[in-house]
Amino acid sequence: MNVHDSEKIAGILSESGYVHAESVNNADVIVINTCNIREKAGQKFYSELGRLKAVKKNKPHLRIAVAGCIAQQEGADLFKKFPYVDFIFGPQNIDHLQEWIQEDSFRSALGDNPDFHKKTLPVRREGRLRAWVSIMYGCDNFCTYCVVPYTRGRERSRPGAEIYSEISTLAEAGFREITLLGQNVNSYGKNLAGYMDFPDLLRMIHEIEGIQRIRFVTSHPRDLSDKLVNVMKDLPRLCEHIHLPVQSGSDRILHLMNRGYTYEEYRRKIGTLRNAIPGIAVTTDIITGFPGETDEDFQRTLNVLTEIEYDGIFAFKYSERPDTKACNLPGPVEERTKSRRLSEILELQELVTYRKNKALEGEILEVLVEGTSETDSNKLTGRTRTNKIVNFYGDEKDIEKVLYVKIIEARQHSLNGEIYTG
Ligand code: SAH
Ligand code: SF4
Repeated sequence: MNVHDSEKIAGILSESGYVHAESVNNADVIVINTCNIREKAGQKFYSELGRLKAVKKNKPHLRIAVAGCIAQQEGADLFKKFPYVDFIFGPQNIDHLQEWIQEDSFRSALGDNPDFHKKTLPVRREGRLRAWVSIMYGCDNFCTYCVVPYTRGRERSRPGAEIYSEISTLAEAGFREITLLGQNVNSYGKNLAGYMDFPDLLRMIHEIEGIQRIRFVTSHPRDLSDKLVNVMKDLPRLCEHIHLPVQSGSDRILHLMNRGYTYEEYRRKIGTLRNAIPGIAVTTDIITGFPGETDEDFQRTLNVLTEIEYDGIFAFKYSERPDTKACNLPGPVEERTKSRRLSEILELQELVTYRKNKALEGEILEVLVEGTSETDSNKLTGRTRTNKIVNFYGDEKDIEKVLYVKIIEARQHSLNGEIYTG
């Protein structure tokens, strides 16, 4: 989501006549887009911003803006610590960059922006084949560990017609794969007059000529409906992949996290998905060391990995975030324990991922070819519908095409194959 926000920031700058500078030293405007989901992301930002002090000293006309979730949470305090910053704006106020570029008569844009979701901003996309498209902004879930509802504001869905028109334009420009973005796509449409829910939206955009693959992130397990499962089953351009963050296998911890489901409910939903869509890839997010997490709670999370057999996971150590409710929960887990649990999770998942990849050897899979492989320029690289990376020998003329590839060797994080001509 942040990368896509950066594409919008770049889009606004391009539309205002700016071109991409080759280095920080050549730039007239620098916008740093920040993430505050975990503490580590913040540390990177502060060292980057610190380095810009000297650059600005040598070039006083340089204008520095800070965007994103740290900007939103730190607000005017950032000016105190870094007086050489000129403008601060939060994720719901990206549109204000346009005005600031033209006339910098204000220094921050951090308030609620109730019409932001109705605007379609210019986007400068990195690729030509795969594109992200925002379908909703903000989040109302208030998971107790998470900063997003405080930084991205209230959940608001983009009107379906705007989404349809953006994707149609992308299709005409040659894009073949769309990933719909929202913090909780399953609750799409709640704020819209004239009821259209997420499955309805999927049906509508599925009609757009030229788009071959449709993906979406992120689904919230609580709001994943049978209607969505049926649409996924029915619509051939919807890819067989779901990212469904479980966070923990312990009901006690899930309750403390305010996730709104039990593990049993989650497990049943995965069962429904797998029955309806054979071969669907399932990925997840996991947090280790949430306050009060005991060895027994943690063991339940390990059991989830063995039971569900995810195709891939993102796992994180719990990181205390300002303003969130989990800050006040008893039983903080020691850093050491968090790290050990994270390693255990990652080690177990490595085995599962490899086993799942291995099971694909001999299969013939549809691959959308993205380009040449980074490690071997004679090879092409692409992704399966289940979002697995496949490398294989091929001709550059096949880039951007859909090919069938036979999987010949499973690797830990990718598959090797050969073009299937049979
Ligand atoms: N809206 C999405 C994802 C939000 S952030 C969802 O609900 O699934 C992506 C992931 O970051 C989360 O799923 C969670 O696993 C992780 N995360 C969020 N806040 C965190 C925190 N304070 N500490 C550690 N991990 C966190
Ligand atoms: Fe954060 Fe929960 Fe919203 Fe996801 S659903 S963004 S984890 S509050």
